[in-house]
Amino acid sequence: MTAPKLKVKKGDTVMVISGKNAGKKGKVLDVLPRENKVLVEGVNMVKRHQRPTQAMPQGGIIDKEAPLHVSNVMVMCNKCDAPVRVGRQESGTGGRVRYCKKCGNVLD
Ligand SMILES: [Zn+2]
Repeated sequence: MTAPKLKVKKGDTVMVISGKNAGKKGKVLDVLPRENKVLVEGVNMVKRHQRPTQAMPQGGIIDKEAPLHVSNVMVMCNKCDAPVRVGRQESGTGGRVRYCKKCGNVLD
């Protein structure tokens, strides 16, 4: 079984468009296709209690990103410099590429 294709990929820059983090931008650190969620660098930080490790013998509380639902983010187009809708089209070489629906810029 293949995971459903998300329009967001690891390494994309996305903007959060709804929820308490709306307006924040960040790089996609990871994509969780089964849950339709993405981890965005510096967005949706939560406090996590850390068990003591050799590096941090006291343990402690660290800030960590929590996943966001993919419907709450939009991919940034570097040409439009704005969050845009993403389409898919044949690349001409048999594959499919993502493109910006606003300016046509290929994102892959
Ligand atoms: Zn664009």
